[in-house]
Amino acid sequence: MDEEGPDCGKADFVLLDQVTMEDFMENLKLRFEKGRIYTYIGEVLVSVNPYQELPLYGPEAIAKYQGRELYERPPHLYAVANAAYRAMKRRSRDTCIVISGESGAGKTEASKHIMQYIAAVTNPSQRAEVERVKDVLLKSTCVLEAFGNARTNRNNNSSRFGKYMDINFDFKGDPVGGHIHSYLLEKSRVLKQHVGERNFHAFYQVLRGCEDSQLEDLHLQRNPALYSFTRQGAGLNPLRLQPLDSDERSHHQAVMEAMRVIGFSPEEVDSVRRILAAILHLGNIEFVEMEESGLEQGHVAVAEEVLVDHVAELTATPRESVMRCLLSRTVASGGRELIEKGHTAAEASYARDACAKAVYQRLFEWVVNRINCVMEPRGRDPRRDGKDTVIGVLDIYGFEVFPVNSFEQFCINYCNEKLQQLFIQLILKQEQEEYEREGIAWQSVDYFNNATIVDLVERPHRGVTITDRIFLQSLDTHHRHHAHYTSRQLCPTDKTMEFGRDFRIKHYAGDVTYSVEGFIDKNRDHLFQDFKRLLYNSSDPTLRAMWPDGQQETTGKPGGTPAGWPGGGADAGLPECPMSWQEPFYVRCIKPNEDKVAAKLDEGHCRHQVEYLGLLENVRVRRAGFASRQPYPRFLLRYKMTCEYTWPNHLLGSDRAAASALLEQHGLQGDVAFGHTKLFIRSPQTLVTLEQSRARLI
Ligand code: ADP
Ligand code: MG
Repeated sequence: MDEEGPDCGKADFVLLDQVTMEDFMENLKLRFEKGRIYTYIGEVLVSVNPYQELPLYGPEAIAKYQGRELYERPPHLYAVANAAYRAMKRRSRDTCIVISGESGAGKTEASKHIMQYIAAVTNPSQRAEVERVKDVLLKSTCVLEAFGNARTNRNNNSSRFGKYMDINFDFKGDPVGGHIHSYLLEKSRVLKQHVGERNFHAFYQVLRGCEDSQLEDLHLQRNPALYSFTRQGAGLNPLRLQPLDSDERSHHQAVMEAMRVIGFSPEEVDSVRRILAAILHLGNIEFVEMEESGLEQGHVAVAEEVLVDHVAELTATPRESVMRCLLSRTVASGGRELIEKGHTAAEASYARDACAKAVYQRLFEWVVNRINCVMEPRGRDPRRDGKDTVIGVLDIYGFEVFPVNSFEQFCINYCNEKLQQLFIQLILKQEQEEYEREGIAWQSVDYFNNATIVDLVERPHRGVTITDRIFLQSLDTHHRHHAHYTSRQLCPTDKTMEFGRDFRIKHYAGDVTYSVEGFIDKNRDHLFQDFKRLLYNSSDPTLRAMWPDGQQETTGKPGGTPAGWPGGGADAGLPECPMSWQEPFYVRCIKPNEDKVAAKLDEGHCRHQVEYLGLLENVRVRRAGFASRQPYPRFLLRYKMTCEYTWPNHLLGSDRAAASALLEQHGLQGDVAFGHTKLFIRSPQTLVTLEQSRARLI
C-alpha cells in the first residue's frame, strides 16, 4: 500500500476517521479520480468499474502480487485471487470468491481477471493435462457469454445468468478440473426484449457470422429485423440492432474456435446452429383462427406453413408432428383415454413461446454440461479424493430495483438475500467463534439479520393458486403478520402500492415493491409433454440428448398446476451451500454511472449501491474486529528480522512472548490482542508499518 503515494485516500475503508456515508463517499471518489479503482474493507475488495482500459493488469502486475500478503501491495483483484489461492493451498481447504454488484458494475470482468491470475501462477512445470484444463477454463467464458449474455440498456455485454464456477486443484496447487453451475437464466429474453436491448448474442452471431451457404441451409437471411425474436428491442429504430462492435462476425469465429478447442464435435456445433435457427423460425410462426361451421370452436391454422417445414427440418422431427404439437395437445380425459384437444390461437401462441424458451434453456444447459464433462477432473471423483481442493468463483447479479419490479427481480433479489444471509452468518459467526477459541473478548455488533426474510420467501405455499390476484391474496393471508411483508390490502393508506397488484418486501438492502402481474405465468412456464416427446424423438442425437424427459408417456393435466412460491425450493437456482463457501472472499463491485462512460462518478448512484451492498455495516463489523490474525510462528517468521530480540532466533520462553517483544520495540503493542495461538492485529496500518520496516531490511 506504501506504493500508492500520499494523495490517494485510504487504501482500506477501515482506516477512515469516521464511518459515515460522507467519509466513505469522499474516499471512494478521491481514489476513483486517481485511478485507484480498488479499495479494501479488511479482506473485502471494493471495486469501481473504470469503464476504460487501465494499465493494471497483465503479467507484470501479476508478478507483483504473486506470493505476497494481502496488505503488501495496493488493493487489487490479483491480491484477492492470490489470497484465496494461498489460503486454499496453505490449509488444503476449499475457498471461494463471491463477486456481487449491480448489472454493469464489472463482476464478469473481475471474474475473468481472477481466472487469468490463477492460470498465470499455476503449473510452472507445464504439465500438458493442466494446460488443457486451464485452456478450457479460459475458453469456456467466451462460449458461455455467447449463449448467456446480451446487450441491455445497462451493460452491452450483460450476463443474463448467474454463474458459480469451481476450479479443482491437485495437491501441487495446479488446476486439474472445474465445474460450472449456472442458474436463473433469463429465458424470457428469448421472446421479448425491452427497447434498446437485444436477445442473447448467439442469435446475432449466427445471423451475421455464418457463411452464405450455411445461412441458406438454415433457411435464414442475415437481417435480424426479419425475425420476431431478434427485432423487438429495435423499437422504431432498426439501427438499434446494429452489432455491438463492427465485428460480430469475428465474435462468431471466436466462439466457434473456442467450442472446437473445448471439444465440441463439428456435428454438435452444427446442431447448435440448427437449434438456434429453429427457434428463430418458431418465433415467426403465427396462428389464425378459422371460422368454420361444424367444427369445434378453437380450430386454428398456421399462417405461414413453410416455417413449420423449416422447424421440422432443423429439429429433425416429422413435419406432421410439429404441426400437431403447435395446434393441439394431448390430454387425459376421464379414465386412461387420451384425446387430442385443439388449441385456440392464444393457446397455440402460448405453446409456441413456451417451446422456444424451453428449447433455448435446454440448449444453454446442454452447453454448460458439455463444458463440465470436458473439465471433470480425470480419473477420480473430486468429492472422494481428499487431496483435491476447490476455489469457487461466484458471479451473481446483485440486488435489482426498478420502477416496476416483477418476477425476474424477485428471483434475483431472493438469491441476493440468501447470499447476504450466508455472509452475515459466516463472517460474524466465524469471527465470534474464533475469538472465543482464542480467548479474546468479543463485542457484539448490531446488524440487520435477514433470516426472517429468507424464511418468508422459503415458506412453501400450496393451494390452488391460479391467477396472479389469487396468488397475491394467498400471500396476504400467509404473511399478514410478517414484519417484512406488506401490501396495499394490508396497508390501505399506502398509496405507493396498487391495490390487488403490488406487494412489498423489506429486504436487507431496502424496500422493494413487486407487481404480481405475470408472476404465475412466468413461474409456471408450462411446456406441454407433446413437445418434449417430439424433441426426444428427434433424429438429431444432440437435440435428442437435451430432452431425456420426453421419454415419459405422461400428459399435461388439463388444468394449471398449482404454483408455489416462485423460485422457492429446489428451483431457487442457488447451489446448496457448497463446502467452499465456508471461507469466502468478497469482491463488491460498484457502477460509477448509468452512461457507461469513463471518469464519471455519479454520487447519488454510488451512494445507493454502497447502501444496499451493506458496505458501511461491513466497515463497522471490521473495525469492531481485527484486520489480521496470524499464528505466532508465521508472524515471527515474517517479521523477526525487524527486532534484535527475535533475530535470527528468539530466546524468549514462547513465540507469544517473542511477538510481544517485537511489537513493543515498534511501539505497536497497543493495537493488538494476544490469543492462545494467534496474534490479532486491529488495524491494517500496523501491518503496513511492519511491512515497511521489513522492506527496509531486505
Ligand atoms: P457485470 O458483469 O457486473 O454486469 P461487466 O463485468 O460485464 O459487468 O462489465 C461491464 C463493462 O464494463 C465491460 O464490458 C467493460 O467494458 C467495463 N469494465 C468492467 N470492468 C472493467 C475493468 N476492470 N477495466 C476496464 N473496463 C471494465
Ligand atoms: Mg456479468
